[in-house]
Amino acid sequence: MSAMEQPYVYRRRELVEPDWRRLPGWRDVTDKEWASAQWQRTRCVKNVRQLRELMGDLLTEEVYADLERDQAERATMSMLVPPQMLNTMVPAVDAPMPAAGAEFSAAFLADPVRRYMLPVYSDRRTDWASHPHASRDSLHEADMWVAEGLTHRYPTKVLAELLPTCPQYCGHCTRMDLVGNSTAQVTKLKLAGKPVDRLDAMIDYLKGSPQVRDVVVSGGDVANMPWKNLESFLMRLLEIDNIRDIRLATKALMGLPQHWSAPDVVEGLGRVSWTAACRGVGLAVHTHINNAQSLTPSVAHATRLMHEAGVRSIRNQGVLMRGINDSPEALLDLCFTMRDEAAINPYYFYMCDMIPFSEHWRLSLAEAQQLQHAIMGYLPGFATPRIVCDVPFVGKRWVHQVEEYDRERGISLWRKNYRTSIEGEEVDVTSTDYAYYDPIYTLPESGQRWWREQRDEGAVAAAHAAELAAAAASRTASLV
Ligand code: SF4
Repeated sequence: MSAMEQPYVYRRRELVEPDWRRLPGWRDVTDKEWASAQWQRTRCVKNVRQLRELMGDLLTEEVYADLERDQAERATMSMLVPPQMLNTMVPAVDAPMPAAGAEFSAAFLADPVRRYMLPVYSDRRTDWASHPHASRDSLHEADMWVAEGLTHRYPTKVLAELLPTCPQYCGHCTRMDLVGNSTAQVTKLKLAGKPVDRLDAMIDYLKGSPQVRDVVVSGGDVANMPWKNLESFLMRLLEIDNIRDIRLATKALMGLPQHWSAPDVVEGLGRVSWTAACRGVGLAVHTHINNAQSLTPSVAHATRLMHEAGVRSIRNQGVLMRGINDSPEALLDLCFTMRDEAAINPYYFYMCDMIPFSEHWRLSLAEAQQLQHAIMGYLPGFATPRIVCDVPFVGKRWVHQVEEYDRERGISLWRKNYRTSIEGEEVDVTSTDYAYYDPIYTLPESGQRWWREQRDEGAVAAAHAAELAAAAASRTASLV
């Protein structure tokens, strides 16, 4: 059978750094400036004014207004995009640079990286902008904190959220409850403890929990922690005998690879890797890349330095999102480019979590199952990513592990085989069903109608309750 007859045709993609000088605001930026993490951090785009200074009349006024409206009415994350990431939008590598105005704006709006890093109001659904079951902290991570920022959800592993900031803020961030600056829509939760006390409490918990062997060191993004503080925490973890795996979570490997290429960081990573190797502990880096467009020589350079420093494995945990990577081609292009050019192992693609205003990004479980089927058999088995649903109160489940699935109403039920830290011994968790919900607009008309009726009944019930409360208040007032 010839390669042309396959549904997916593999081709090796050479990495190219898009020329940042094509953008008006960076015409004079030198290679040296571009390679500097400090320059990148200070030139992040944090608002529409700064984007306008960079893009000028490449974008139309309508696009700027669309962004402004999203920030005011929908955004759950504030704007923060490093130059490295912005430069991968409309890269003009495989195609000529679009003309300023309508042509560039159309390409910008269609761009997969733009679509999740710089969401515009017109991207979002207007029928069901949020699912009725969407919530802040949709995975209930804070409910499972055993020390502030330390989530103990699975029996043998924990998630340590060291800090609530990142070098970049992603529109779909599942930790929108805690991470980043408050937006017009979301006042962020604030960590109460002093950083040093919180980290001490985490270490104390881990020392007293011999059943925990695996720590995901995350945030936010560990790239925003001063290196000496991060190194100190990692060295303390490495002194705990029961900790056998440490995974550092950083999207900055893609968003700000200049950070991970800085000599002081590379040297520090070398010290930590050496200590981990001497103690037989697996030190891995987990990153978050959603589209092949994000992989450039700067990213590959950083991953090479990480491997040379002794990091055992670099794995990708992407998020499956509509218009970004929701086709077999987009997923396989990303996975092959990571493997071939940057030694990153495709690991997971998460279904997008049920946070507010995420419906336009989310896929149904049926779509995710279909994608998983479509990508099997092309990559080596060890590099074939699992598409997983992070089910509230459960954790990651492979999309084909669903127990029951009502496709008409888009309700899937899941089970688990362990207790989280919030369930007492009296709860039989293994026979309890936990629900996840498809985006309503993906359902057949009968299912959509059912949800509209639920909404209308809910609205009627809420109005009735409000009337009763008002009547009770007026009775009370007349008695006073
Ligand atoms: S890098 Fe991760 S934690 Fe930070 S905003 Fe993006 S998704 Fe959220």
